[in-house]
Amino acid sequence: MEDYESKRRAESKAALEKIKSGLATKVRILVPADACPACRAIEGAYEFADVPEIPPEGCSCLDGSKAFYAPVLDRFGP
Ligand SMILES: [Zn+2]
Repeated sequence: MEDYESKRRAESKAALEKIKSGLATKVRILVPADACPACRAIEGAYEFADVPEIPPEGCSCLDGSKAFYAPVLDRFGP
């Protein structure tokens, strides 16, 4: 599954770049409830400098990691 994983990694990276170039101030990793422990462990909001890769190291999701990046738009706060 090496091909699938590197494709997934490239896609995630592209999505992350898009978020970085938008209005987001941080990025959140969203993980489905049926994801593997390695994926569940990286769920949360991150500074751009600290964002882990998707799929994370040690991912054992059967169909590949379904974790994904989402923008955090806290600039629209009060
Ligand atoms: Zn996983």
